[in-house]
Amino acid sequence: MGGTVESVTLMVGAARGVGAVARASASSDAGTDGSAPAKLRIRGLEKRYPVKGGELLALDGIDLDVPAGGFVTLVGTSGCGKSTLLNIVAGLDAPSAGDVTVDGDRIVGPGPDRGLVFQAYSLFPWRTVAENVAFGLECQGLSRTQRRARVEAMLGVVGLTEFAEWLPRDLSGGMCQRVAIARALVIEPDVLLLDEPFGALDLQTRQNLHEFLRLVWQRTGATVLMVTHDIGEAIYLSDQVVVLSDRPGRVVERIDVPFGRSREPDVRRDARFLALEHDLDDLLHGRR
Ligand code: ADP
Ligand code: MG
Repeated sequence: MGGTVESVTLMVGAARGVGAVARASASSDAGTDGSAPAKLRIRGLEKRYPVKGGELLALDGIDLDVPAGGFVTLVGTSGCGKSTLLNIVAGLDAPSAGDVTVDGDRIVGPGPDRGLVFQAYSLFPWRTVAENVAFGLECQGLSRTQRRARVEAMLGVVGLTEFAEWLPRDLSGGMCQRVAIARALVIEPDVLLLDEPFGALDLQTRQNLHEFLRLVWQRTGATVLMVTHDIGEAIYLSDQVVVLSDRPGRVVERIDVPFGRSREPDVRRDARFLALEHDLDDLLHGRR
């Protein structure tokens, strides 16, 4: 990682001044008391894939709300339909049944209101860092000058200004994921969708990026839906953790995380944190 968490704080703060990613911040307790309106609403979501000799039921009757400015994480074992669900919310795949809406509007395809970060190594390898970040802005038809200003501000936010002209192959895994997050955030999406964004990284890099993501989330006021199989990561980052069953994915449990938003890394050693981790592990592995 290039910058420390402190320097990222400063850079995120600085970027607010130029309006790169700033947005009216959601109230600090949105999503924890159920009173905030759902930004993202999923009802009766079902997904069936045609497969040889029949159909595969990947998701079954998913109901899920993410309040405006909230951070909800889905956990589930491999193959339970997490990516399927995220891709449907991203508009990259269509549901077989059910409704997915953002601000009451049904999702019919990808849109600039939703930014998506995949698992590692999703950057365009032939594009520089700046060109990768500029991608979504090109799709929106912004002029070169407008793009340059937005990309420069965003690279400041993720602490990669000096790497603007580098190619992904010359960056560490953690830096690549910061570029991926910058590429998703530069279009100023209301909703940020993250599919196991830190899965391929070592523990230290992952924990640095957790701090980074928390800062970016709080500064931008984005609504976040993340998918992971890492229970500790889910608890540490989220307002609410939603547990999916093995395939077909169904919601087994929704757990409100009992910690406020200004968390320090050592909350991971709190007895309540450890107990929650234990409970979630049991739920995930069908021991409860
Ligand atoms: P996860 O992200 O939780 O690991 P996925 O959403 O990728 O799970 O997949 C859920 C299930 O759906 C898996 O059994 C997978 O093999 C199946 N699946 C995913 N995409 C397709 C597809 N395009 N065609 C057929 N089956 C698919
Ligand atoms: Mg997946």
